[in-house]
Amino acid sequence: MSLDDVYRQVVMDHYQHPRHHGHLEHPTLSVGLHNPSCGDELHLDLIVDAHGVVRDAAFEGQGCSISMAAASMFVDRVRGKTLEEARQVVESFKDLLRRREADRSLLGDLEALEGVSQFPARVKCATLVMNAFEQAIDRIEPEGGAGDGRKA
Ligand code: ZN
Repeated sequence: MSLDDVYRQVVMDHYQHPRHHGHLEHPTLSVGLHNPSCGDELHLDLIVDAHGVVRDAAFEGQGCSISMAAASMFVDRVRGKTLEEARQVVESFKDLLRRREADRSLLGDLEALEGVSQFPARVKCATLVMNAFEQAIDRIEPEGGAGDGRKA
């Protein structure tokens, strides 16, 4: 079995059996995003604590296998990580898709999406969940602003 086949199986497994699929009951952050070039829709819920740790995350959506598999992989990857660590995952993944040197040790199953770099039109599918994540955490106020009562 070639590496491509292994990667394809990992992608299809996440697509068919998404991890952390659904909504969180009391998310601290929620973002919905749409990828018009493909029609993918994604909703991301996050619980980020006052220490900047992603305590929980879940997603829901409809779209192509790449967008949904990437969401499952990413959410699974960043749960329990700090926002800084999660940002590094995003950067490494974008490096991978730009065919730059990437820190693969951060990527986990996301590495299976490397082949998307050959299809520039699909890069937006693969990064949709990360764009949602970045929009969500941009709303967090800088140091000292946590715990302002926005917790539901
Ligand atoms: Zn798509």
